Amino acid sequence: MSERSYEKTQALRDRALEVMPLGVSSNFRYWGRTETPVVARGEGCYYWDPDGNRYIDYRLGFGPIILGHAHPTVLERVEQIMRRGTVFAALTEAETRVAERIVGMCPGVDLVRFANSGSEATMHALRIARGYTGREKVIKFEGQYHGMYDYVLWSTASANPTALGSRRDPIRYQQSSGIPACIRDLIITLPYNDFDLLETALRREGHQVAAIIVEPILGNSAGIGPKEGWLEFLRAKCDEYGIVLIFDEVKTGFRIAPGGAQELFGIQADLATYAKSIANGFPLAAIGGRRNVMEVVGRGVSQGGTYCSNAVGIAAAEATLEILEDGQVLKAIDAQGRRLQAGIGQILDGAGIAYQIQGPGAMFGLLFMDEAPHEFRDMRRHNAELYEALSMELVARGVIPDPDAREPWFLCAAHDDDAIDETLDIFQQALNAVKDSGLLDFQPGEEGGE
Ligand code: PMP
Repeated sequence: MSERSYEKTQALRDRALEVMPLGVSSNFRYWGRTETPVVARGEGCYYWDPDGNRYIDYRLGFGPIILGHAHPTVLERVEQIMRRGTVFAALTEAETRVAERIVGMCPGVDLVRFANSGSEATMHALRIARGYTGREKVIKFEGQYHGMYDYVLWSTASANPTALGSRRDPIRYQQSSGIPACIRDLIITLPYNDFDLLETALRREGHQVAAIIVEPILGNSAGIGPKEGWLEFLRAKCDEYGIVLIFDEVKTGFRIAPGGAQELFGIQADLATYAKSIANGFPLAAIGGRRNVMEVVGRGVSQGGTYCSNAVGIAAAEATLEILEDGQVLKAIDAQGRRLQAGIGQILDGAGIAYQIQGPGAMFGLLFMDEAPHEFRDMRRHNAELYEALSMELVARGVIPDPDAREPWFLCAAHDDDAIDETLDIFQQALNAVKDSGLLDFQPGEEGGE
């Protein structure tokens, strides 16, 4: 392994700690006083830290980079547009074109409103669902993340699976201090993929539920997917109880297919939320859905914001969606991702390590456990220590996934054959480095959570 030095990188971490809590702008970015990732610049599937060390990036900013960092076509379009002014509090033709494109690409989307982040999009979607149904409660699933606000910071992937109580009577795990106690009464948390528990919850209080919000693939819990018939079941139950089905496609949208999970699984939600890949790293989000549900916006349901449909985000989205629309680029990303999955699988098979890989090529999870996971609680059988140690060996050699297996590996259009081959080489080296650590002798936790 060639020697890498981190002098400037560490100096920046130390400086940031003086002026920002944990020295970062999001708690998820803090890995430790000497570990937090620091970036100087990015291009394609690579970024460089302040010391000039190069990394093959599989975090991609937690997903938004679908074409590659600093993509030239997107940048050109943004540069052109920003010289003509960025925020007017007025309608533009460009935002109309992007709305038309989203309606064309995403099944089940008749009307669209723009926002700036995934959190904003899901927040608005929940308000729309409540305004449409006149009900207040919301069902979310354990291990799913929908944003950084009070209504949804319950039983996310940051919870310890053993803190969630009995599956028959799940503890609604409050993910942060500072959330008013009364919010707890508005959220119902359930294990994913459990038909019986959902049925029971709906029989008990289904007529008080405004929305079921769901990440169809668990983009915050290692890419766990829906069981056969599960999304169909959600659709049918929402119809039966008059509940608004919200697909949170903030991670899956414009990544796993041009029309996201709605296209991939052939199930139409009532509302869908998009952000991240929609604009290749520029802040833009969208809430879209069926005409009769979306129409409550403007008929008593508030939605808006100073920067909603700002020209920079819209220009970036237009350039990005033009490239993604015909599906060829996403197909190529999926194929590269599957090549990487197969290569990682081969290396782990060779080492006799039990593992599970789940999710499509563009966004997949890797877990060290011997049975396929179906819900967040199953992750207590995953050897997280081994995963973290292996990840840190990868990072030290210039390949950067998130050291927390809950965060999937993300691929972009710039992950070419060279990048994948180099990744697999380094994966083998990193595995050799942890082989003798004793971390391979793992006894999965059994306690709690059943
Ligand atoms: N929904 C999902 C599925 C997400 O993964 C995220 C962010 N990781 C959000 C919502 C929130 O998006 P943002 O960070 O842009 O607010």
